[in-house]
Amino acid sequence: MARYIGPSCRLCRRENVELFLKGERCFTDKCAIKRRNYAPGQHGQSRVKVSPYGIQLREKQKVRRIYGILEKQFRGYFEKADKMKGVTGENLLFLLEKRLDNIVYRLGFATSRTQARMIVRQGHIEVNGRRVDIPSFQVKVGDVVSLKEKSRSIQTILDSLEAVVRRGIPQWLELDKDGFCGKVKTHVTRDDITTPIQEQLIVELYSK
Ligand code: SF4
Repeated sequence: MARYIGPSCRLCRRENVELFLKGERCFTDKCAIKRRNYAPGQHGQSRVKVSPYGIQLREKQKVRRIYGILEKQFRGYFEKADKMKGVTGENLLFLLEKRLDNIVYRLGFATSRTQARMIVRQGHIEVNGRRVDIPSFQVKVGDVVSLKEKSRSIQTILDSLEAVVRRGIPQWLELDKDGFCGKVKTHVTRDDITTPIQEQLIVELYSK
């Protein structure tokens, strides 16, 4: 699966918002957007009037970058969300939140979604006791996501679990830190997603 391998902080500066792509560094003064809060590139500091289409496009790019998803797959999520009952924009966010790599990140087994994706791909994660190495795997209510027994001494994962105390666990998840596992307690709701996202703009963009 293809993925973006360019500089992460550049993406935050482009979207003018912290996307938390670099783990612990994002919570320190080394965060690039805190030091250079303008778009990257030669014309980054010039004032540019953005069209309504540009605003919608930026919102879509922002969400894509937060969850680390390429355009084709993101479009696929939108089409699936559109066919579901309920509000399309919210369905889209729920599908993204229920990805296994996102849940591994939310539970604190990784400090970023990029790291979470690596942990999943390398086979460190089990869902309901069975190894799952597909980052896009959709986790359901009641599923238990755990770290394989052999992987419980990996220092980066232990450090990450310590750091999660600062970040906090969403209320729709339940972490058993000592048992190295977490459970999806309830369905995620729109209020659970605290990242500033205007999903309606994405719906408008794709509905043109
Ligand atoms: Fe974004 Fe993190 Fe880089 Fe800050 S440190 S600009 S939040 S990726």
